[in-house]
Amino acid sequence: MKLIILDRDGVINMDSDHFIKTPDEWKPIPGSLEAIARLNQAGYRVAVATNQSGVGRGLFDMAMLNTIHTKMHKALAQAGGRIDALFYCPHAADVKCACRKPLPGMFLEMAARFNVQLSAIPAVGDSLRDLQAAAAVGAAPMLVKTGKGTATLNAGNLPEGTLVFTDLAEVVTHLLAQ
Ligand SMILES: [Mg+2]
Ligand SMILES: [Zn+2]
Repeated sequence: MKLIILDRDGVINMDSDHFIKTPDEWKPIPGSLEAIARLNQAGYRVAVATNQSGVGRGLFDMAMLNTIHTKMHKALAQAGGRIDALFYCPHAADVKCACRKPLPGMFLEMAARFNVQLSAIPAVGDSLRDLQAAAAVGAAPMLVKTGKGTATLNAGNLPEGTLVFTDLAEVVTHLLAQ
């Protein structure tokens, strides 16, 4: 089974320093939904791992997060795509949970859910912590320059072997050419 792990904000949808708190604030990055559909068609299972500390900070609640995700799933379905598993960490940083990236808790849950090894599984993110979580489980970190990606690239210190792409569409073109 082919699995790919995606971050949400800055990879699938536009990032915001003020959090995505409502469905209206959730806006897809051009080409990202079609890219996920291409992955599905090529036999990839698509899993999303997203830090959503806005819940823990009280900026929005779980019901609102679910409403935002309903919008995402509908928009994706219209593009012919599907997310097979969605994991989120709702905790604020001070909770010291095991799921908030850069810790790999969500990735380990995925490995258990899909019963797969994570070594060399592509893991796409726009922040250093996404890449660090990927590297922690031996997945293949891939940085996109959308969202916080350009700033992440400029800050350096990327895990060894990190591949850099313009956006998710370019990641998918790369993967499907292999
Ligand atoms: Mg992100
Ligand atoms: Zn957590």
